[in-house]
Amino acid sequence: MADIKVTVWNEFRHEKKNEQIGKLYPKGMHGAIAEGLKKAGGFTVRTATLDEPEHGLTQKVVDSTDVMLWWGHTAHGEVKDEIVQRVKTRVLEGMGLIVLHSGHFSKIFRALLGTNCSLKWREMGEKERIWVIEPSHPIAEGLGEYFELPHTEMYGERFDIPQPDRLVFVSWFQGGDVFRSGCCFERGHGRIFYFRPGHETYPVFYDENVRRVIANACRWAAPRIIKKDACPNVKEPLDPVPAEE
Ligand code: ZN
Repeated sequence: MADIKVTVWNEFRHEKKNEQIGKLYPKGMHGAIAEGLKKAGGFTVRTATLDEPEHGLTQKVVDSTDVMLWWGHTAHGEVKDEIVQRVKTRVLEGMGLIVLHSGHFSKIFRALLGTNCSLKWREMGEKERIWVIEPSHPIAEGLGEYFELPHTEMYGERFDIPQPDRLVFVSWFQGGDVFRSGCCFERGHGRIFYFRPGHETYPVFYDENVRRVIANACRWAAPRIIKKDACPNVKEPLDPVPAEE
């Protein structure tokens, strides 16, 4: 089977501005995510970042991507609407999209879901237990009943998203909050997966379970079909239609 062509998109600002985050992710979070996918095998991985021309997402790059990953936080507003539309069109045509952590507020996620995508948050380094509530789902393959991240930022309900088509993970936090942390959606021919973990100050993208989820999600979201939008006037019917009396 041919490799799945993945483009890992990262805002890539925290790593450059904050020394500690830069030390944690010397190749950027996109570098760590790409490394995990390369180790998993079966993927051809590219990365793209905000400050590249066209945010690294030229028409050529987008058109040759099967699955795109999206990490953004402080600069959602700097992502050009034209590029958001380009990515959205490609998702509707069949490309997979994996939105990570603070990407919940990205233009692309909100455009595809149609809601505010707001949530509760708290930064105290508390523990997160991610419950696998759909163990038969392809994104949960190889995971146990749950897995834990010892220190993370908290995201809590209510998460203002449309009802997911499938909810694969629910997170519990030490402070008592819960969150729908693994949500599947379909838009047009494309599959979208939102995955909560990934705060920039913790080594989340080196975690083996997180890496497994991301690889599983890329396999699940890979296109089954790529179909350009069309709205044709089909003047010739397939079978004869008698003229009206
Ligand atoms: Zn965060």
